[in-house]
Amino acid sequence: MKKIRFEEMLPDELLRLQKENKPVYLPVGSMEWHSLHLGMGVDAIHAEGVAVKLAQKLGGAVFPPLYIGTETIRTSESLKRLGFQGNEAIRGMDFPDNSLKSCYWPPEIFELIISQQVEMLLDMGFHRIVILNGHGAAVQKEILQKICRTYSEGENKLLSIMVLLPDCGAPLGHAGLAETALTQVLRPDAVNLGMLPKKPEQLFYKNYGIADAGGHETEHFVHYDPRDATAGLGREMILHETEKCAGFIRAAFEVKDGKGNADFE
Ligand SMILES: [Zn+2]
Repeated sequence: MKKIRFEEMLPDELLRLQKENKPVYLPVGSMEWHSLHLGMGVDAIHAEGVAVKLAQKLGGAVFPPLYIGTETIRTSESLKRLGFQGNEAIRGMDFPDNSLKSCYWPPEIFELIISQQVEMLLDMGFHRIVILNGHGAAVQKEILQKICRTYSEGENKLLSIMVLLPDCGAPLGHAGLAETALTQVLRPDAVNLGMLPKKPEQLFYKNYGIADAGGHETEHFVHYDPRDATAGLGREMILHETEKCAGFIRAAFEVKDGKGNADFE
């Protein structure tokens, strides 16, 4: 089995990766409310899971995941879609009925931490960094794209990918079908569907802190149900995400050296 964990690598092994111009994968997620049935670190667990598959496929090293995420206050429109009045001050998934708060970092601190981590990796001598992001907040995605633009210069190339891809086999959502199936495969201990009521009882977004795009004006309940998740679906999703991400990485990084060899096999 190929050695892929950054923290386990000896200096010589890291230097070899640099010589071969292999990427460092930096998984980023959040420590965030994911309803009653999922661990709060699901986003970073997901990002790390995809990073591991990519490193096995393309080479490179997986940096330990950063369980850091940022969020903003929801718009009135998004609140109404989830069944709220529209005038509440709700940050991300921190709904008033949740029993625990998420660890949402202020956007400027999030940006500083990730930028600093990226700078240190570049200073070490890595020229390819792939940020794999498991947390879907718009502000998080924007900051990561900005960091990639800022540091991509000369031989340094950075890429940020949101790993929960729109066409990955299950409709997207937060703590719903897709994330539950993925977690069943990547970290079974972080799922307990017994914490949710049995079907056919409906799961209302605001009561469980689950969100998906299935609702409309009068249907504020979960449509892509975590209780339908299976490890089989999770495995298919990860395969698909890995293939897609590998394609993005090849397209962004692949350069030929003087001998006509590509960076990636
Ligand atoms: Zn999530």
